[in-house]
Amino acid sequence: MSYQTFYRKYRPMDLENVAGQASIVKIIKNSLKLDRVSHAYLFCGPRGTGKTTMAKILAKNVNCLDLHDGEACGKCKNCLAILNGNCPDIIEIDAASNNSVDEIREIKNKISLVPSELKYKVYIIDEVHMLSIGAFNALLKTLEEPPEHVIFILATTDLHKVPVTVVSRCQCLDFHRIRENEIVRRLETIVNNENIKVDAEVLNSIANLSDGGLRDAIGMLDKVVSYSDSIVSIEDFEELNGIVSIERKKEFLKIIESSNIKEFIEFTDDIYNKGKDLAIFCQDLMILCRNLIVDYYTYQKCDFDVDFLLQFVDKLNDLCTAIRDSSNVRITFETKILSFLRSLNQKSTVPVEKTVLNTNIKEDKGYLDSQKDMNSLENFKNIVEKVSLEVAVEEKEPEKVEEVVNYNSSDNLAQNMERNSIIVNNCFFGASKNDLNTVKSMWNRLNDFALDSQLGAAACYLSDAVVRAASDKAIILTFDYESVVTRAFGMHDPISKVIEKILNHKYDVAYLTSEQWEKERAKYIENKNQGIPYVYRDLSELESPPQNIDVISQEKERTEESITDEAIKLFGENIVSINEGGI
Ligand SMILES: [Zn+2]
Repeated sequence: MSYQTFYRKYRPMDLENVAGQASIVKIIKNSLKLDRVSHAYLFCGPRGTGKTTMAKILAKNVNCLDLHDGEACGKCKNCLAILNGNCPDIIEIDAASNNSVDEIREIKNKISLVPSELKYKVYIIDEVHMLSIGAFNALLKTLEEPPEHVIFILATTDLHKVPVTVVSRCQCLDFHRIRENEIVRRLETIVNNENIKVDAEVLNSIANLSDGGLRDAIGMLDKVVSYSDSIVSIEDFEELNGIVSIERKKEFLKIIESSNIKEFIEFTDDIYNKGKDLAIFCQDLMILCRNLIVDYYTYQKCDFDVDFLLQFVDKLNDLCTAIRDSSNVRITFETKILSFLRSLNQKSTVPVEKTVLNTNIKEDKGYLDSQKDMNSLENFKNIVEKVSLEVAVEEKEPEKVEEVVNYNSSDNLAQNMERNSIIVNNCFFGASKNDLNTVKSMWNRLNDFALDSQLGAAACYLSDAVVRAASDKAIILTFDYESVVTRAFGMHDPISKVIEKILNHKYDVAYLTSEQWEKERAKYIENKNQGIPYVYRDLSELESPPQNIDVISQEKERTEESITDEAIKLFGENIVSINEGGI
């Protein structure tokens, strides 16, 4: 028999053997047992975490004629047809290579035909975020009313690139990075099964390098096993992968900590000439620094100054990004680190105040006061957050990365909330039924932008929004889910542009969940009942410290007539969804 890679050979065939995704396994198993399989799934998560494997298992199990506790029998005619791999009812599409509207239209045309052999036709669309806007729109129509006999399983590493209109029509399951110990356990099973000898240290290193992706981990094992004919040692592994050993990495950190430029240049020269991969070296250093910092905070034990580590890990993070875009990795590596060393040298000659992160390493070793401790910890958290976001959006264009980072940080979240509450306030200040009707009557013009390469995604988001209230300056929009609201903040600029284009006028826009809106509306009615006027607030107060605002009273006198009636006049009795003409 021809050689099969470990990954294919050991790909789980049933739910029981799927590694590291216990909650997803449970959800799928239960829906199979209770016969409540959804017509559309969206599997999202980092690469190599089991999305496609799970899709294949689900496609088989849902078609099995003799299901036991959610698991396929593997013997019935449907199971056998699928296992043989030539079943026309399981259709796998790689959106990365088939991203045109035509491909999706073809699905649409064939979708009404009943399955030729199985119970369900299952469409597995991998890398679904790669579809063009047009293809997404075609898919959307298909997802809206799929026939009974069809199941869609979409998979993506980049959820934020999938239009929310598609996301909201699927059951979304988040695949997490797989824990290192689970990866090691899986690798051990393979090693034992294959009867090969591999140092435990090698398996740990693989798990560490694979960053939670089991597929990559198994691929690395495959490679290292074919490299060595007897016992696979850590040296073999490091040699093969261009990895610098942990002792050498600590040596390197000591050189940087003591800002010894001459030794730094020699060290770099040495590892470069030995063929080590500088990009991996930076990643590894970052992981090492992170582990040392965690050790410090957990066991109060560290051979390095923790402030130095925090500063350096931040530098490494920038360096990793710079290396990805660099045409000459070595030069980028050397110049960035040299500039860091220079800044260390400059700082160490200037007295530094205790409250600021101290770089005077020798004198300050082990010293931490509580304020500084907090600063360091806060910094570390920011860095970790930044790193994990960067990893999550690895394949995005740089400027988009910026956008995601921007709108997800807790600072910006607070700003967004504050901004929202000002706009809601201002909208209530000037809201009228007339303005609301005007906005609603023009909302269908969103369709004009559905295929726009720049504004299409924003238009798609807006087609799922409900306009709740409007003044001549502000609009309140609601979405069903908080996650969608968060994403709307992230797309604030294109959303504002689309709104300006369809309404021929600039508006401030507040994004709320339906639940938040109900609360705001209740508050509005209560305020009206108690005669509390809304006070116009300038959005520019966001950028400056809180100030006293002149009270501009909207209404000086209150009549006794029902204020609820007035609210109904403004917003309508039932909140009208205005996306019927949707795109
Ligand atoms: Zn079966």
